[in-house]
Amino acid sequence: MEYEEPKKCAICGAELRFVPAGVSKRTGKPYTAFWSCPNGCKSNSYKPPINTGSIILVDRVAALEEDVKEIKEDIKKIKDAIRKRWGIEAQG
Ligand SMILES: [Zn+2]
Repeated sequence: MEYEEPKKCAICGAELRFVPAGVSKRTGKPYTAFWSCPNGCKSNSYKPPINTGSIILVDRVAALEEDVKEIKEDIKKIKDAIRKRWGIEAQG
């Protein structure tokens, strides 16, 4: 991991917390890294210089998640087909 220089909150002066890029658990949408004030000051939502590596990684994870979703749907279709054809429950 790259070292991220600590930044200070423009409102309260507290040391900001670096939040690495990831995928929101709430919305499922990928987001870029940002700095967050531990005291919850809203005006610190400025973005640090764009870290292309992180963005590429987020994009790849999002693409993989999409692939997994499609594969799961395919497996479900195959299981349904097996059930219809032989009247048995597929394992798993
Ligand atoms: Zn603050």
